Amino acid sequence: MSHLLDNLGGAKWEPTFISGEGALVWDVGGRTYWDFYGGHAVTLIGLGHPRWVHAITEQAAELSFFTAVGDVPVRGRAATKLCDFTGMDRCFFVNSGAEANEAALKVARKATGRGTIVAMENGFHGRTMGALGATWKYRNQHAPAHGEVRFVPFGDLEAVRAALDATVAAVITEPVQGMAGVVMPPDGWLEGVVHAAHEVGALVIADEVQSGIGRMGAPLASHLFGITPDIATVGKGVGGGFPVAAMLCTDAVAATVLPGEHGTTFGGAPMACAAVEATLDILVDQDLLVKADSVFAEVEAQLGSVPGVVDVRGAGAWVAVVLDRPAGPVAAGLRRAGILVGTSTDPAVLRLAPPAVVPVVAIRMLADALAYELAAPAIEGAA
Ligand code: PLP
Repeated sequence: MSHLLDNLGGAKWEPTFISGEGALVWDVGGRTYWDFYGGHAVTLIGLGHPRWVHAITEQAAELSFFTAVGDVPVRGRAATKLCDFTGMDRCFFVNSGAEANEAALKVARKATGRGTIVAMENGFHGRTMGALGATWKYRNQHAPAHGEVRFVPFGDLEAVRAALDATVAAVITEPVQGMAGVVMPPDGWLEGVVHAAHEVGALVIADEVQSGIGRMGAPLASHLFGITPDIATVGKGVGGGFPVAAMLCTDAVAATVLPGEHGTTFGGAPMACAAVEATLDILVDQDLLVKADSVFAEVEAQLGSVPGVVDVRGAGAWVAVVLDRPAGPVAAGLRRAGILVGTSTDPAVLRLAPPAVVPVVAIRMLADALAYELAAPAIEGAA
């Protein structure tokens, strides 16, 4: 009997995975899988990168842990590297994407002295109470929500404007919605949101937990839309698989926060920071942002013409493959064929978030396996 409280963690796949390297994963029976899922869009640098393994193990041997009450060199280096990479001014390390959003919401409230948050329909920001309150799909799962949140349709600038007033601390949005199925905003929307928010003295929080740190072929997805947010949250890929995330902000926002107003025991832990430093070095030195872009081009070329594929959208190593039928059974079929893909809250979307190092041959195998799965007629209503 398992002692894991599994039903709190969501749906489970059948295989038990025991090892991985690059874009390959092996299960307990020795079966090989191509990883087009990236472990919930995490491993852009690939699994078990030798430089990353070396950085963590060396740090573990040198100083395995010291909390933020004392400076450690690797924390400062990782913060500088992350700010240089993203173009943000200041960095506060935490342990998960949800926790980064908690920090962002708290700081936005502190910086503005206001309480209301504007968030997007179909947006996802995490499962802790504040982040959950701004998360469309799950917001009522553990009601009452924490704080006042006004939801507006993603991509609707007029609706954002109508929701903004002098009580609003911040607009929180993913630049591109991940869990919703890699949904792009209309041209100029994000820029319009920043302009409208600043007009009423509200901040903009870009939740880049899934879209950032190279996933879309840019350090932040915000850059692709020509904006610099007041606060950006990053997680998932920033530690290359090590549990670490960060709230990044401008100097102006940082200046409003006083010592002791927020804190965390493990945030900025030396091994986590070594993982961030190594991950950013790998992304830059191996040109993985450019490689991520070539993943999109190859997926689009290989999968776009497969009968049953209606659309291929996204950027970098982050792709929604829109099907003419429910994606769940197709994903299960691909898994049986040795290919791991994700799904999304859009039932017709297969979500791909492979490592940028996924080889072209794997993309061809995905295209073949998908063509085979989709050759079977769609079963009406299957999920
Ligand atoms: N924000 C976005 C956009 C996400 O996609 C996720 C996780 O999927 C989170 C926040 C929450 O991150 P975590 O699961 O690390 O708490």
